[in-house]
Amino acid sequence: MKRMPREGIDADTILRTLADLRGDDVQWRDGRAFSLVYHAGDDLSSFVKQAYTTYFSENALNPSAFPSLRRMEAEVVSMAADMLGGDENVVGNLTSGGTESILMAVKTAREWGRVHRRALRGGGRPKMVLPASAHPAFDKAAHYFGVRAVRVPVAKDLRACVWRMSRAVDRKTVLVVGSAPSYPHGVVDPIEDLARMAKRKGVLMHVDACIGGFMLPFVRALGRPVPPFDFSVEGVTSMSADVHKFGYAAKGASLVLHRDAEQRKHQYFATTDWSGGLYASPTMTGTRPGGAVAAAWAVMHRLGFEGYVKLAGPVMETTDRIRAGVESIEELEVLGDPTMCILGIASDTLDVYVVADHMQARGWHLDRQQFPATLHLTVNPAHVPVAGQFVDDLRESVRLSAREPADRWKERAKYAALNATLRVLPSRLVSKLTDVASRRMGLGGSDLPQQSAPMYGMMAALPNRGDLRKLVIDALDGMTTYEPGAKIPIDEEPRSS
Ligand SMILES: *Cc1c(COP(=O)(O)O)cnc(C)c1O
Repeated sequence: MKRMPREGIDADTILRTLADLRGDDVQWRDGRAFSLVYHAGDDLSSFVKQAYTTYFSENALNPSAFPSLRRMEAEVVSMAADMLGGDENVVGNLTSGGTESILMAVKTAREWGRVHRRALRGGGRPKMVLPASAHPAFDKAAHYFGVRAVRVPVAKDLRACVWRMSRAVDRKTVLVVGSAPSYPHGVVDPIEDLARMAKRKGVLMHVDACIGGFMLPFVRALGRPVPPFDFSVEGVTSMSADVHKFGYAAKGASLVLHRDAEQRKHQYFATTDWSGGLYASPTMTGTRPGGAVAAAWAVMHRLGFEGYVKLAGPVMETTDRIRAGVESIEELEVLGDPTMCILGIASDTLDVYVVADHMQARGWHLDRQQFPATLHLTVNPAHVPVAGQFVDDLRESVRLSAREPADRWKERAKYAALNATLRVLPSRLVSKLTDVASRRMGLGGSDLPQQSAPMYGMMAALPNRGDLRKLVIDALDGMTTYEPGAKIPIDEEPRSS
């Protein structure tokens, strides 16, 4: 076990250690990451940091103690609602992230259903219907709240299939979901058709605009085609939009928005019986960081609508360049017709996971997706200066992948793809997973492949997805456990202060 140092260590040593530690991480500042960090330049981030630290200690849990935070939150909600086609009836809350916003939308639908769906009044399990491409946060919500999530295959263009989803809606259904756009391929689901269907069936409809909420309006303002996706569409009853993605706020800021206040009441929690007094909370968390609220409010005022449009311009031009580059490589294609700055890259002739390994060796981190096997790119302002280099490296990686003999791992594993959950695992863990997977498949230790592509193949070949899930859970367990061998080196000699 690691023991807390007996005496405190001096501040400089600790801060130096922190700075050094970052050296191991993905170099997002250099445009090497295609997810996770949304960077609009050092000037803007130091401004956002100032706003955050101004409210570093404040707690948005209790709005009566901090009326300033309450007002800022209400303004952020109102500005976003206005930007997303809402009227003054639209209400909402800031949450810690897209996942929490989605959890709240599903929880709201569940409570709403208990009141408004006759088939659920006597109990029974509420159901939601979503496209295969919708974010796993909906499955998490289903898991937490006892809602049944029914995933429906997408159409050929990778967008939600309205007629299939329509057929899945029954008397216990409380919610229909569409994404604007979907995270894996960046395509906007047919929101108008889905919302019309939901309204006709008398159920709620959530639009997950976590990644698009702070981009699609600006893409449209640039004069590019964006289909209707927000509260301007009748039948859309709730939305999620992350300020900490293309809103460039500090992490810990997303919005859940509801068509009206009546609906939002189903989101709340309140208890009146606690010895500590009355307790009410709008969202999942108790303590809420005031800094995240202040940073979200500040960045929207700093940039303004036109500031966001200005940032979106080069991002979209860079996306065009990368897309054209990908399409100029014969072995590769961009799937579907992405609306904003997210691309899914596939190949009919090559193993894209092998391509990803070659890209990784060149310092580029691409998410590996499945069903079908694709590489994921979310383009942000950090990519503007490196797009040319990226395409060159991609071309070279494809050339190297094409030259590799049809490898035996692939044969053995009957390549399919890997559970999306693995996307979130850092590469350090890949060797551990490979080890476990290999043992389960009876492969010798010396045969272990060095790269991740064969590992993905083996994982895909595990006899059932339950085994794979168990493997992932084991891995997660290992990742969050202290390992003496991986101890962070720090000078623990106490200094006089
Ligand atoms: C990022 C994202 C989420 C989840 O948001 P977190 O902030 O990571 O919790 C949900 N849906 C979509 C479409 C996303 O892009």
